[in-house]
Amino acid sequence: MAEMLELSTPLADIRGIQSKFISKLKKLGIETVRDLLWHFPVRYEDFSRTYAIAELIPNQEATVTATVQNIKSRNTWHRGLHLVEAELSDESGSIRATWFNQPYIRNVLQPGRIANFAGKVTISKKDSELYFSNPTYELVSDHAAYHETKHTARIVPVYAETRGLTSKGFRYLIQPILHNIPRIPELFDKETLDAERIPEVNEALRTIHFPDTIEDALSAKRRFAFEDLFFLQLHNLLARMKLAAEKAYPISSDIPRMKALIKSLPFTLTLSQKRSLWEILQDIEHGHPMNRLLQGDVGSGKTVIAGLAAVHAAEQGFQTAFMAPTEILARQHYLTLTRLFPEHAHGIALLTAGETRISYGHGLSSAIGKTALLREIGTQKANIVIGTHALIQKSVVFPRLALVIVDEQHRFGVRQRAALERDKSHIPHFLSMSATPIPRTLSLTLFGDLDLSLITELPKDRKPIETRAVPPLERREAYAFIRKEIKKGRQAFVICPRIERPAEDGDAASVWNTLEVKSVKEEYEKLSKTVFPEFSVGMLHGKMKSIEKESIMRAFSENKVNILVATSVVEVGVDVPNATIMMIEGSERFGLAQLHQFRGRVGRSEHQSYCFLLTESTARAAATRIKALVEAKNGFELAEKDLKLRGPGEFLGHTQTGMPDLAMKAIHNPDLVRHARGSAARILEADPSLERHPFFKERTDTLSRTIHWE
Ligand code: ADP
Ligand code: MG
Repeated sequence: MAEMLELSTPLADIRGIQSKFISKLKKLGIETVRDLLWHFPVRYEDFSRTYAIAELIPNQEATVTATVQNIKSRNTWHRGLHLVEAELSDESGSIRATWFNQPYIRNVLQPGRIANFAGKVTISKKDSELYFSNPTYELVSDHAAYHETKHTARIVPVYAETRGLTSKGFRYLIQPILHNIPRIPELFDKETLDAERIPEVNEALRTIHFPDTIEDALSAKRRFAFEDLFFLQLHNLLARMKLAAEKAYPISSDIPRMKALIKSLPFTLTLSQKRSLWEILQDIEHGHPMNRLLQGDVGSGKTVIAGLAAVHAAEQGFQTAFMAPTEILARQHYLTLTRLFPEHAHGIALLTAGETRISYGHGLSSAIGKTALLREIGTQKANIVIGTHALIQKSVVFPRLALVIVDEQHRFGVRQRAALERDKSHIPHFLSMSATPIPRTLSLTLFGDLDLSLITELPKDRKPIETRAVPPLERREAYAFIRKEIKKGRQAFVICPRIERPAEDGDAASVWNTLEVKSVKEEYEKLSKTVFPEFSVGMLHGKMKSIEKESIMRAFSENKVNILVATSVVEVGVDVPNATIMMIEGSERFGLAQLHQFRGRVGRSEHQSYCFLLTESTARAAATRIKALVEAKNGFELAEKDLKLRGPGEFLGHTQTGMPDLAMKAIHNPDLVRHARGSAARILEADPSLERHPFFKERTDTLSRTIHWE
């Protein structure tokens, strides 16, 4: 062990850590003492009680201190395993222990040696004798550097393991370092520690790795989760304060006019749509930027609410940039708004890489050259501009941009928004829309700097979507059903997980997996030629040119295509109310939230809709998930389930969230989230610029940099 350790000491500088460990740790992102100590156990095993061998009972987790009587190894015929078998004894009796494929054990546990053995006591089927299967062992030595065990006779930490770095290895590395680091200064004052009933940092660090009791381990975990949450909330609150100090255009309300607009819609707004709209209108009336997330289940009608806000802003002389993640969606929003507000004469425009259009009311829409459109924006003839990322190009100049709307991107509009904030004297109001029903505590953590508007119900005319799992044998019936519906005039989506069979460069399992997946092209061929030759079948996938996508989507929304075979392209936002069937191939390959999104593409009109979940196997795990989907009637319920089944990282999708791990887990603990927020608020109240808390300031600044993912 090195002389003077600091948290910042590189592990490579510590004598006694083998270089093969250093490189493995590096792969896990562990390079310094701090990284290693903050690599927390994922769970613990309780070997704290030592037993006499005669006391052992089957299925117990226990530690014994015993002498190795004899030890031998052999290759078994069974699966070609190498087996080491030892007989262990203490004063009370003896027991067998076996290890598979660890031949070196023979060199360590030589006859006569005394060691602790910890593990599960198993009862042999063959002779009903008790034995230890694969027990952890630790030699008991009089010359031990510390009179403390690492692996046995205690509560033992278990770490996320990686090839060649076992939990045992981590314990070997961590324990001596814990004994050699200087005291770490505590961040929180005593009142906070007491109020939260959490241990101070040195104590917490020791007990999170080597606790005396499980309770100690849990409160240590709580401490670090609290710390992470605290900084997240500090970050959120600072972001809020910063924004509140900025100026925005106040867009004054005109209630009679808004009532007239709402009345002119082809449907009645739901209560929560009205409430959300009201919250938005109130916010943008103020001279400080709104920062709001409009959250509502798929099909709950978020677009019209955003549209009303944009139309209102335009009528008050302001411009709105309305961003969608794909060209298909941008185009759809453009069509929706020109259809919903046919008399709106303040210029609604579409601006994507592939298409530029404008409408000045009377239900008319015309193509316009890009240069001409940019001029219309520059002279405030186009006041609601809907588009993709194309909107944030430098050449697009809004002289009076007051509102930015970002659809379907969780919160990932941060950068787009910053790109649009060119007129630094007036920051635009910001409205983000998401159908991902994020549980409350998670959204407080992730989106704590945003205000939340919730659309909690679907429009009244909607019938629940009938959701069914379809095993391979029932596929033909599903096709027959689709045929019947199409003959009635309805339409269907068929979703396939992949576009093409990818090159076989992955590991064996993934090649096997992708080979099982139906490609869109194959499915399209099959459906158009063999299964439904009498219907018009279209195909949509991410590799198509935007002009092709656009024409196929147009044909589908005009019911010139009966069946649309697609990849997950249609996952977000596509709105074709006449489509009533969503058939999902290989449904076990999608996450619950994603399946829910697919399902949300149907059930958008008064017609009864159906969702068929085709399964490739009859595997249990798949069945549980499908069952959850069939049973869950709304997205929030499902999100909670999904969150439990997969954990927050997976739940939020492929995107790296940048969230500290413990903080993410702590979302199951709403109290802790609330307390962290309270503590952060108290600090800021007393010291708004964190002048007196330089360390807090530094941590939050770092966090802000890692958190604004995209
Ligand atoms: P999402 O919230 O998933 O983005 P959309 O905004 O696409 O949902 O709305 C889904 C469909 O419901 C659209 O066809 C829209 O015109 C329609 N719609 C929206 N609000 C209502 C309502 N209050 N009553 C009936 N239909 C509505
Ligand atoms: Mg939408």
